[in-house]
Amino acid sequence: MTNAEVVALTARYQMANYARFPVAFVRGEGARLFDADGKEYLDFLGGIAVALLGHAHPGVARAVSEQAAALVHVSNLFHVPVQSEVAKLLSEATTGGKVFFCNSGTEANEAAIKLARKWGSDRRSEGTFEIVAVDGSFHGRTYGSLSATGQPKFHIGFAPMVPGFRAVPFGDLPALDAALTDRTCAFLVEPIQGEIGVRMHPSGYLAAAARMCRDRSILLIADEIQTGMGRTGEMLACSRLGISPDIVTLAKGIANGLPLGAVIARDAVAEAFVPGTHGSTFGGNPVCCAASKVVFETLSEPGFLDGVRRRGDRFRDALAALAARRTDVREVRGMGLMLGVEMACETKPIAAKALEAGLIVNGTAGTILRFLPPLTVTDGEIDRALEILSSVLPAEGWKP
Ligand SMILES: *Cc1c(COP(=O)(O)O)cnc(C)c1O
Repeated sequence: MTNAEVVALTARYQMANYARFPVAFVRGEGARLFDADGKEYLDFLGGIAVALLGHAHPGVARAVSEQAAALVHVSNLFHVPVQSEVAKLLSEATTGGKVFFCNSGTEANEAAIKLARKWGSDRRSEGTFEIVAVDGSFHGRTYGSLSATGQPKFHIGFAPMVPGFRAVPFGDLPALDAALTDRTCAFLVEPIQGEIGVRMHPSGYLAAAARMCRDRSILLIADEIQTGMGRTGEMLACSRLGISPDIVTLAKGIANGLPLGAVIARDAVAEAFVPGTHGSTFGGNPVCCAASKVVFETLSEPGFLDGVRRRGDRFRDALAALAARRTDVREVRGMGLMLGVEMACETKPIAAKALEAGLIVNGTAGTILRFLPPLTVTDGEIDRALEILSSVLPAEGWKP
């Protein structure tokens, strides 16, 4: 099939809920993708922060095919060796504590929300169920996560939302202080907001929020679905930002593209889940866990995360240098290999031109260009991406 044939097939048989580019990828290699017409691209979106180790990673491919040949699924009525191994790696690499596996980001947040409410009901009182989140956040598309999401545009047409959620203004500590009451069981926050355009909290905000939560026995839930798994140059962005959450949610890159989500909670919080309280048929599937094991092993190789930080800093400096030569860049921001450029113009057309020129970047939240390349991306690939980007930015934006 050609790109055009796939596009026609999609239009005929799939719901129109995605705004897709008219390109169908058939093969990948590291940070490169090839479409159905044979054209090559540099992938600086990484399947939206998913392809951590790049496409068609040989270690992942081997682990997945070996596990698939041995056993694909058994259910969580039994123990799963590779699932237990990944839980150990995950717990040791992050906050310690215990793990629950599911299949996606939104399910990880659903599980975290249920865990926090159950903990509130067990440890505090029946009425302690409120979850406070932040304006501009994105937590997923199922009802709990959607209700927590602080962007009304995602709620339109889907009312009523689940009760018990409230969003506080971004960066506003007094508003957070007022919102955290004795009915609150948890504060849910992305350490860096992703979907809205790589938005960093004001300095000191997260530390102060963590202190407020601790003082009031309110759980701090970090949604690290996009920021976690080495994206910022540390296993968790929370470690880089100096805070220590009670619950962490992960998904996206955790299994390099296989569907896996995870919740890690401090032991005293994890205890709220007892047999029968929550579950998932596929959660922690052996094939997904086999892929995830390779991801954890690779991320913990000496120097791997240092490399992410170094290349991220270099990329960020280069974007800042590019911005200095233009009149239409408002800000360059982010950490590690999660970077955003805020423009004075719409970025969807820029992303479309970049795609035509062989570079995949994301235009999000109207005016943001978002970069989430594989963590294995090379300096040479970053330089090439910058060249392509320079060639597709609006001609009138260059300083004379
Ligand atoms: C992508 C994302 C989600 C939702 O993950 P899905 O796997 O699409 O359900 C939730 N939170 C954050 C921060 C994300 O970036």
